Amino acid sequence: MRLLLGGGRGGRMLCLWLMLLGFALLTLALLEIFNRDRDESREKPGPPRRRRPPHQTPSSPDLLEVIVDSQDPAIEFAADIAPLKSLQEDQLLYVPSKQEALKKGGYRVLLLGAKRDARATAPPTHGGMEEALRLQMEVLEKDLELSAAAHKDGFNEVVSERIPMHRRLPEARHPECFKQQYESLPSASVIICFHNEAWSTLLRTAHSVLDTAPEQYLQEVLLVDDLSEHGHLKRVLSEYVSQLDGVRLIRSTKRLGVAGCRAVGAARAAGEVLVFMDSHCECQRGWLEPLLQRVAQDRTRAVSPILDVIDGQTFQYNATQWPVRGVFDWRLDFRWDSDPSHQDKDPSSAVQAVRSPALGGEVLAINRHFFQRVGAYDQGMLLWGEEQIELSIRVWSCGGSMEVVPCSRVAHLVRRHHQPYSFPDQEVRQRNKIRIADTWMNEYRKIFYRRDTLAYFIRQSENPDIADRLRLKRSLACKDFHWYLKTVYPQLYIPEDRPALSGELYNVGASSCANYPHRQELQGGAMNTAPCSGTGSQHCELNSEFEVRWGPTGASCFDTRGERVVLSPCPTNRSTTSRLQWRFMKMSGQLIHQRSQLCLEAVMEEELPQVSPRGIGGNAGGLFLRPCSHHPRQRWHFDQLVAPRDA
Ligand code: UDP
Ligand code: MN
Repeated sequence: MRLLLGGGRGGRMLCLWLMLLGFALLTLALLEIFNRDRDESREKPGPPRRRRPPHQTPSSPDLLEVIVDSQDPAIEFAADIAPLKSLQEDQLLYVPSKQEALKKGGYRVLLLGAKRDARATAPPTHGGMEEALRLQMEVLEKDLELSAAAHKDGFNEVVSERIPMHRRLPEARHPECFKQQYESLPSASVIICFHNEAWSTLLRTAHSVLDTAPEQYLQEVLLVDDLSEHGHLKRVLSEYVSQLDGVRLIRSTKRLGVAGCRAVGAARAAGEVLVFMDSHCECQRGWLEPLLQRVAQDRTRAVSPILDVIDGQTFQYNATQWPVRGVFDWRLDFRWDSDPSHQDKDPSSAVQAVRSPALGGEVLAINRHFFQRVGAYDQGMLLWGEEQIELSIRVWSCGGSMEVVPCSRVAHLVRRHHQPYSFPDQEVRQRNKIRIADTWMNEYRKIFYRRDTLAYFIRQSENPDIADRLRLKRSLACKDFHWYLKTVYPQLYIPEDRPALSGELYNVGASSCANYPHRQELQGGAMNTAPCSGTGSQHCELNSEFEVRWGPTGASCFDTRGERVVLSPCPTNRSTTSRLQWRFMKMSGQLIHQRSQLCLEAVMEEELPQVSPRGIGGNAGGLFLRPCSHHPRQRWHFDQLVAPRDA
């Protein structure tokens, strides 16, 4: 020993050599491990595959994906993710299933920027499943305890938990739908984004897709967790998902919002068609094929099923009346417009897709390439709201189309009040609407700003950064909003908003404004007066047809029922009647009803005879027709909140 290692210069050299050799070997080994991890994480989504591949290799990286890295500066904001470019591969990490002999369960998490020695969980056992379920129950119970009521998410979570995970919805499709044939359709990736979704609704959504979508067309289900905070959406969900074939979970470490989250899903999807779906849906049998067929026939078509309704209290399924179209108003609020009176008696029309000016985001199918080419989702859209309107205007204006496909039905949970999340920025929706107005509406944006004065005032002090979107609009040679209104959405009345004849209708005697105390879409109700809101919600106009048009669509007109002034649907064919015509006397401020020649008066409740208890006999104060006088309560003026030249 002493001869080999011991004293002397030669021995020390040998010792040094051995140490160097050892160090080199160690470095090589570490590099090897590092590269292996990286190769796994860099693997791109493979070619289209069947949902249940018969020979899945144990290392196949497609069961569970996680983005885990809170320190990565590359993922700063959702807005940083360019819409047309796929995500940097190192922002995402696969978590391959450690399947052994195709047993289910088991996954490992690769932490980027943290230790690379990702540890696989023990191979799945029956006990493992029980443990996962026990954990799930514990977390659920804790969540329920924590919630002050079972309604914390705007729906009855207790009822939802009693509904089976795999429930079959009552048939609602038209009999003609069963005669339809579907062949060689493209594959679909169903992308389900969620933020703080309840366990039962989220998993029922995923199972419902798996239960109803034909295997050969379902590429994958991508669950994208938009930085949820609820405990049940963490480890327990990862465990659960790792046991579902064809379902992958992607987690974001930044709150992305609907548009950002869907863009992440889209960037990772391998299916030919993307189907974006809310995290609280249940699919009717046969929902996917009609959608895929319409998109296969024309790649520039974005399509939606009929959205049936799951009641937030009872979880009862309610079928929606056909025909239904997606529309929006001048406040840029979206709604589904169902008009059964337009129902065609011809049975073949029951299966025909209906062109729709816009589509809601609940469920939307779109060709993956077309989606990316047309600019994906606007990544400047904050958290939630109106991203579906932006996409709709863009798809139509830039060469695509939209339609509702009646043989496809998906039920969507309608919550009582709103989201199970709050917004750090209360003006999120206004900011999103500003982006739409400034990017897409040209001079028509003034009509919007007059009806949403909060947006107007925000816009006065902030410039939205829409340069990229304007560039996109130019490069795609998109048509302008005038074209959109004339060609795609001619049903939307275009207000004239003439100076001094539009704005809040202010009553001098009552020092308050004309007001509609019912839901805007509920026509036939009586008008009254209320404190002026200043928000644009009481905006109306006297147009050149002498109609007083009310509401954000401008489709409601001042009408009379006896001596009361009520709202009625305005004529759509421009042949208005004298019953709906008014003349405004600028000098006296009188608004004179043409047919009766009586004047509009704000009548106080106490002035009316008390024939029955308040409210029931309809004798509450309001707007009435009265013989003309110079009483201040017959004196009106239109208060413009936004000067015409400013908007
Ligand atoms: N969502 C999200 N991130 C958000 C807000 C919403 O991923 O910041 C998800 C949400 O969980 C749901 C979908 O986006 O699956 C649409 O939101 P929501 O259902 O609340 O909208 P609504 O249907 O009420 O219009
Ligand atoms: Mn929803």
